Amino acid sequence: MLDAHWFTEIVPGAESAFSLKIKNKLHAEQSEFQYLEIYETEGFGNLMVIDGCTMVSTRDNFFYHEMMSHTALFTHPAPKKVWIIGGGDCGTLREVLKHDSVEQAIQIDIDERVTRLAEIYFPELCESNNDPRAELKFIDGIKWVKDAAPNSVDIIIVDSTDPVGPAEGLFSEQFYRDCYNCLTPNGMVIQQSESALFHLPLIGEMRDAMSHAGLSHLQTLFFPQCLYPSGWWSATIASKAELAEFRKVDAAAKTFATVYYNADIHQAALAQPEFFKQAMAKRA
Ligand code: SAM
Repeated sequence: MLDAHWFTEIVPGAESAFSLKIKNKLHAEQSEFQYLEIYETEGFGNLMVIDGCTMVSTRDNFFYHEMMSHTALFTHPAPKKVWIIGGGDCGTLREVLKHDSVEQAIQIDIDERVTRLAEIYFPELCESNNDPRAELKFIDGIKWVKDAAPNSVDIIIVDSTDPVGPAEGLFSEQFYRDCYNCLTPNGMVIQQSESALFHLPLIGEMRDAMSHAGLSHLQTLFFPQCLYPSGWWSATIASKAELAEFRKVDAAAKTFATVYYNADIHQAALAQPEFFKQAMAKRA
């Protein structure tokens, strides 16, 4: 929703909204899959909106992109092959490619227009797109994973829009079964799992579906993300194998720059809020 100088995302059911003061509307188009908007804001740089939902801003995307990538990559013992389902703004891809152990990073987004707009309005997020290890594919991630060969990937990062429209199937037990089938023995999925304050039942349903699909070792991590509903977001790791402690020494000795992620933040993100613990215990 846009009034003269503000973009506002109203959160249905949460009786809340989030607004950013706007300088200019830079672009809008209906792609084959979703309605895409780009704004220039007063205080957050550029803003991408998909189907009325805030996706990424210049100012605060680092929280999300770093926590959706480094937490899983430093949890896996030796990640080599990584797929990003969604992630069309390319910020997660850039973070994944900071890991020297990664030999292949394939980004599978259903909507090429998201990436083409990111190249124009978020060039800093696309700076690793030409890395020889990177591959961009524009197809449905659900189909990609369904058709994938067994044992073909170490980490699947599901950096998708909310569980509606083209992304809905990415939150299903069948999708997690398909992930299970193509993950290596130490393989894991990490998926953006919305806000524990606003979407607690959804997180429980996701964790149950992941578990029923055989990805029964679960970790939900919590981190700030100003742009998204409630400003407090989560990601859930679901692994085939027992989840050992994350590689704290490697994380502390990381050779690449981050803005938010470090070993202490990773450890802190694993702390489970009391209401969350109780809600998940009730489902067990
Ligand atoms: N950080 C954002 C969030 O948490 O809402 C996600 C950013 S990224 C722009 C979301 C991407 O998911 C979009 O580019 C959209 O095209 C993609 N997407 C949605 N459904 C998909 C599907 N079934 N397969 C692949 N990509 C999909």
